[in-house]
Amino acid sequence: MHETSLMKNLLAIVDRAALAEGNGPVRLVHLRIGEMAGVSEDALRFAFDVLAKGTAAEAASLDVEKVPLRVHCTGCGGDSNPSDFVFICPVCGSTEIEIRSGREMEVDYILVGDRAGESEDSGA
Ligand SMILES: [Zn+2]
Repeated sequence: MHETSLMKNLLAIVDRAALAEGNGPVRLVHLRIGEMAGVSEDALRFAFDVLAKGTAAEAASLDVEKVPLRVHCTGCGGDSNPSDFVFICPVCGSTEIEIRSGREMEVDYILVGDRAGESEDSGA
């Protein structure tokens, strides 16, 4: 499960960011995960629960923002948002396309020592 090593890296980033922000407890970790990043949100959340223990992010909630796949066709110049990972331009049928977004795997921002936004909870 590569989500575990990804989460280790993310938590290292979060730890550094938390230090830079005064080393307070992290309240929220907001991730941006591309649809094409090939990671499972469930696995990521599980890895977070396990790995965040003992780090600045121990008590943080985890927000996962899904970034849709967007491709740009170099054949006709059109941008599209394919629903499946089919790399054919829906406009002209060209396979000469570039992925513009959807492979992200990053910490977008964190909130440190901030009690605002307490009601954010995705529920179970
Ligand atoms: Zn095209």
